[in-house]
Amino acid sequence: MNIKILKIEIFKFNVEITKPIKILLGNSDGAENLAIKVTTDNGIVGWGESSPCAEITGDSQDTNYATAQTMARLIKGKDVLAIEERMKEINSLTFGDPSVRSAFDMALYDIAAKAAKMPLYQFLGGERRELRTDLTIGIKDTVEETVAQTKDIIASGFDAIKLKVGRPELEDVPYVRAVREVIGPEISLKIDSNQGWDYPTAVANINAMQDFNLQYSEQPIAAWDYEGLARLRAKVNLPICGDESVFDHKDAMKLAKMEAVDYLNIKLGKSGGIHSGLKINAIAEAAGMKCMIGCFAESRLGLSAAAHLAMARPNISFIDLDSCYNFKTDPVIGGMTFDDKIGGLLNLSDAIGHGAEFDENHLNQESKVTI
Ligand SMILES: [Mg+2]
Repeated sequence: MNIKILKIEIFKFNVEITKPIKILLGNSDGAENLAIKVTTDNGIVGWGESSPCAEITGDSQDTNYATAQTMARLIKGKDVLAIEERMKEINSLTFGDPSVRSAFDMALYDIAAKAAKMPLYQFLGGERRELRTDLTIGIKDTVEETVAQTKDIIASGFDAIKLKVGRPELEDVPYVRAVREVIGPEISLKIDSNQGWDYPTAVANINAMQDFNLQYSEQPIAAWDYEGLARLRAKVNLPICGDESVFDHKDAMKLAKMEAVDYLNIKLGKSGGIHSGLKINAIAEAAGMKCMIGCFAESRLGLSAAAHLAMARPNISFIDLDSCYNFKTDPVIGGMTFDDKIGGLLNLSDAIGHGAEFDENHLNQESKVTI
């Protein structure tokens, strides 16, 4: 079988969020994303999404938009099922723009699974399992604001919280203490510094938080400082998770060799998609490390693809797929949904592919380019 790419449509779209999120690296008051629609010569349509985050991935909606047009010309007319070859071409075109590489990857997997008449997780060799996401609390100005949002999250029934930290000196400690006091001992709590601490600040904070029963510390120090991560991991009594330090499988290999982290955060927008995400997870598994699956500011479409990957690989055991939880509008039809009874439970149907498509009325029609 050979299915050729007939046409690729590229759209920009923006979505506002009701609760802007502040992290150490900047503020987010919404998503500025790209939608990729791939149509094949036998009439299958696959969708992908990019959600660039310049502070971390170095790309933006504008760079994604330009790169997507070059990528579309590169793969048009070629066999969509040869994902290995298509991703080799896409990854050879640029080392950058990982978000838009992931959008093409997502659309190719969507089409391949649809051609096989399988939901994507099954196409990837997985079977159905429960996925439950945490919910993230950003950097707030006061402990009171943090406590108020924590209470809202608990009232919605979530069983896991990720708290953004990374303030100077020991300023984070009262925030983390207050959240643990509010949620009690049962609910899992992890912290994410987004590179905000240096090595001595990280040691001091993690030691000061010893009694708060934290799950792990995510990217406590600078992304490039693998030696510092290894030193920190050997020094403190808390698992360390790499996020900004790991884009693709090559980073994963280095971190594993250096025994620098305990866990790896896979984000499709960093890895350049599922193809490389699978390789990260394979390296992690071989090194005895668990993975988490994370996100930037994807809609339910990008999160659906990520959820299928997580469902297919139980070693991806920490789920952080909450980006669109506070979107003002929902541009997606089908796909993953947040359960309205059990907080954080992700419902994934057995629709073929990743199961999601964009409502084109929500996409910026003036930006539409057809290749
Ligand atoms: Mg992170």
